[in-house]
Amino acid sequence: MIISSQFDGGNIECVDSSDPGRVLLNIRNDNQSDFYQWFYFRASNVRDLDCRYLVGNAAGAAYQKGWQDYRAVASYDREFWFRVDTSFDGENLVIEHNSCEDQVYFAYFAPYSMERHADLLAFAQTSERCQAETLGLTLDGQSMDCLRFGEQDAGAKIWIVARQHPGETMAEWWMEGLINRLVDHSDPVVNAILDKAVIYLVPNMNPDGSRRGHLRTNAVGSNLNREWDNPTAEKSPEVLCVLDKISQTGLDFGLDVHGDEALPYNFIAGTEGIPGWNRERQQQLELFKMTLANLNPDFQVEHGYPPNSAGNANMSYCSNSLAQRFGALVMTLEMPFKDASGTSDAVQGWSPERCGRLAHSCLDALHLCWDQVINR
Ligand SMILES: [Zn+2]
Repeated sequence: MIISSQFDGGNIECVDSSDPGRVLLNIRNDNQSDFYQWFYFRASNVRDLDCRYLVGNAAGAAYQKGWQDYRAVASYDREFWFRVDTSFDGENLVIEHNSCEDQVYFAYFAPYSMERHADLLAFAQTSERCQAETLGLTLDGQSMDCLRFGEQDAGAKIWIVARQHPGETMAEWWMEGLINRLVDHSDPVVNAILDKAVIYLVPNMNPDGSRRGHLRTNAVGSNLNREWDNPTAEKSPEVLCVLDKISQTGLDFGLDVHGDEALPYNFIAGTEGIPGWNRERQQQLELFKMTLANLNPDFQVEHGYPPNSAGNANMSYCSNSLAQRFGALVMTLEMPFKDASGTSDAVQGWSPERCGRLAHSCLDALHLCWDQVINR
């Protein structure tokens, strides 16, 4: 058996693969950071073998609760990702699998490669209603891509960013679903929104971490969702160039799309702890969440993060920083690595396809709540 991870987004260290019944692996930590949990590797020459893959450093991963009731994903064709038997024994994450092909890929969640990202951008820009703008470069020299749907002076400015944490690939699957809907000229909801708004998207806030196979940080170990109060060219040029652009355009509604390692739910977090929080913003937040829950059974409002108490927001978070600065509703959307409890899928768990559906529902919710949630 051969284990490899030298590809876009790959992450594993192989300690010993001589015994298929006891393949010893470790996850590499993010460069210049202690975070690790994202893994993505290929096992070759494994057809019909009973394999046990042991990730030996799982207990020290960033979110140990993430391993509870967790099942890894696998794929033969790198398109369809299915769940495989996985357990956590307090020390090792143990993946058990008998492959019916010569090669099989395993990952923490369905990977979203930088090659696929490039394909998505290329596809989007051919839509006549889409403009692609490169805002700057990352520390590894990759481009920071921003897509604009609709006319610049169309009215309300909607900003949606995703994948500040590169291991949260569900966030970019969500973006792909959104973009596939935004390019559809026959979609009446999209047309209605673009008549009165311009939508700016950053489908991947962290290209370097994505390509390097990081969980949470960029090329130099910066957690980008702790950089919005004071981004710098040295530590966080990704945030710096996006914030510059948002400052130019203004913002009337914002969404920051993430994944949560531990919670088996789709949920939204607000910005309750910011100085500018008020009753109107609370009502907007509740209305948007309730509308989304009514539209899509995969979303719920019961479980999530406890809101910050008044005045206790961490202003280095994207959502808190933008909500305070622009006096608008800005929310953080979280999706699970595991599955959405209550609407679970035994084969795939939470999946790229359902991420895309949830993105569609978010557009529908915005359309339905428009007059209440856009301050204009
Ligand atoms: Zn995140």
